[in-house]
Amino acid sequence: MLNQLSNSIYYLSNLNEKERPTLGLVCGEKYSLVIDAGNSVQHAKEFLQEIEALNVPPVKYLVITHAHWDHFLGMNEYGATIIVNSLTNQMLNEWRGYSFDDASLKKYVDSNKIAPLCMEIIKNEITNRNSFKLTSADIIFEKSLTIDLGGKVCVLEKIKSTHTDDSTIIYIPDEKVVFLGDSAYGTTTNSLFHYKQSLLLPMIEDIQKYDADHFLLGHESICDKDEMDLYWKELISASTATESTSLEMALKCFERENNRSANDNERFFIKAFVNDQIINS
Ligand SMILES: [Zn+2]
Repeated sequence: MLNQLSNSIYYLSNLNEKERPTLGLVCGEKYSLVIDAGNSVQHAKEFLQEIEALNVPPVKYLVITHAHWDHFLGMNEYGATIIVNSLTNQMLNEWRGYSFDDASLKKYVDSNKIAPLCMEIIKNEITNRNSFKLTSADIIFEKSLTIDLGGKVCVLEKIKSTHTDDSTIIYIPDEKVVFLGDSAYGTTTNSLFHYKQSLLLPMIEDIQKYDADHFLLGHESICDKDEMDLYWKELISASTATESTSLEMALKCFERENNRSANDNERFFIKAFVNDQIINS
């Protein structure tokens, strides 16, 4: 079932047990635009079926928020003009050379090019995968791009992000909605989960310059402004307290600065910033 956020915005909720991210749909008077393609042919087909039932203008554009497999593997299904930033395009180019038969998939997993879970989903949810090739993008932008769907403007911007270097967000000014993709999350490097500390404040600045009431996140569906503000606040106080690779010192510093001990979220974030210090040390 699609969720309707406003007259012109819908989304399909994330499904964590299937590693499916949130997918978005913005409808203008002339065209519709899809945000993220889904993690498989099957995921994309299910989304397209829901869209067909809505009787909205045709899907002309598909924006991929970043080059993580769960966001783009369904991209062939839409017959749409595919839009990515130039860094996402570079990363997708590597995937365009991939084959999806059993032997190739095993080779990519063994060389850490793709995750075992990704292989499983490809095997289960991409039919005809022996001949499957990822299609190419059609519009490649550097910093930002504005699209008018007919009385409905979407602003795409490549922002700084704690998750990946190629994060695109989509802002719909009329509706005060931002699709963040995974940009506000951390990432895993050498089995360590971390938030890129040096990019936290620049990222928040990039996102907060848009006047928004609702935020769609890749693996959380929707947050309102208060939830988002609390998320930023906890991240910032956790980051401020973390100045070295010592978790103990960071937790003490947090207590000193806030006159209380860190809550569960803040502890989780502090651990992630300590990991970031370890990775960069
Ligand atoms: Zn991601």
